Amino acid sequence: MSRATTIRGARIWDARDDVRQRDLHCVRGRVTARAGWGALTVELGGYTIFPALVNAHDHLELNHFPRTKFRDRYDNAHQWGEDVSARLDEEPFKSLRAYPLNDRCFIGGLKNLLCGALTVAHHNPPHTCLFKRDFPVRVLRRYGWAHSLHFSSDDDIVRSYRATPPDVPWFIHLAEGTDEIAAGEYRRLKALGCVGRNTILVHGVGMTDEDIADAAGIVRGLVVCPTTNRYLLEAVPDLDAWVDAGGTLFLGSDSRLTADGDLLDEWIGLSLDQNGRHEWRPSTDGFIGTSFMASARIDKTHIGLTVGSYADWLACREQQLTSRANLALVVRGGVPQIGDPDVMAKFSHIQAIQALLDGVPKRIHVALARQIARCTLREPGLELDTDFMRQHMKRM
Ligand SMILES: [Zn+2]
Repeated sequence: MSRATTIRGARIWDARDDVRQRDLHCVRGRVTARAGWGALTVELGGYTIFPALVNAHDHLELNHFPRTKFRDRYDNAHQWGEDVSARLDEEPFKSLRAYPLNDRCFIGGLKNLLCGALTVAHHNPPHTCLFKRDFPVRVLRRYGWAHSLHFSSDDDIVRSYRATPPDVPWFIHLAEGTDEIAAGEYRRLKALGCVGRNTILVHGVGMTDEDIADAAGIVRGLVVCPTTNRYLLEAVPDLDAWVDAGGTLFLGSDSRLTADGDLLDEWIGLSLDQNGRHEWRPSTDGFIGTSFMASARIDKTHIGLTVGSYADWLACREQQLTSRANLALVVRGGVPQIGDPDVMAKFSHIQAIQALLDGVPKRIHVALARQIARCTLREPGLELDTDFMRQHMKRM
């Protein structure tokens, strides 16, 4: 249950790079203009509060797989897809695919929650468990999708696009390669009549300059997944060309089958080239801004920290977001989910369980901790109190 809360003393990040000290009120899971009746006041002086992040691309049921490839570098992710498909009945894929879908999806949700990405655009069928109240993050409910021009037939792509209302986002992997096939995909998609205001392109690494200039003014945006693109293709899309052409960029984590970590790791990945040098670095605020704007464009619900929005937010000691272990607090719908022990202790009404996240002491909301214990899969880097785990683990 969410209790009326007023956060006092923190610097609050608002849209458009405005950071200032003000009170943040929350009643029944939403940001409100005034304090709620009997609100708990929590002093967070010295912390900066950001709206929770939006992950624009993930495959939530695939995050328990190891990062996988069978060649050093692919010219096109289609080849990677064929390589993986051919081995699905071999280990470790065979065993990992046999885990319950609910548990597989839970690990994907948990990965996102831990890094503060509390709204996620899922690319794959809309599994029922993703929309249950106790799923760790909010999953975009209204969306259309096709896999790609290689793994979906033209008929299926056109049917899916036409079945998606024009105000609902429609996602497709596009130009995930550096070869001629990737370079031609945008024109193929356009010829199918599937390039419109609700189209969201994922990857776009191999798009030509002319196609970027054309697409940027039409589609809803391009989702960038830097660690995946570098891992498979040793390349990233031309971000400057997108921005110069007036296009919208979203940041996506993709699944751990190809990605290195979570959405915060993508942020770091976005800014480094192959040799670890910084090559493209909007400010941290710019990243939050990109992520925040994604919420307005991908989903039309209220996300952010304005009145009426979900009270989904993160607190950090620094004004930089670096890694999930450095987040001092992650709050969903006004309810703290995980945080530093001293910060969690300020919410005295919340029962929390001791944990270690990447070696850093944390406390986790007991309801989330129970779900973690009951899940048959484990999240790497997260350890919970052993007595608690023993008590709540599913009996095999
Ligand atoms: Zn993908």
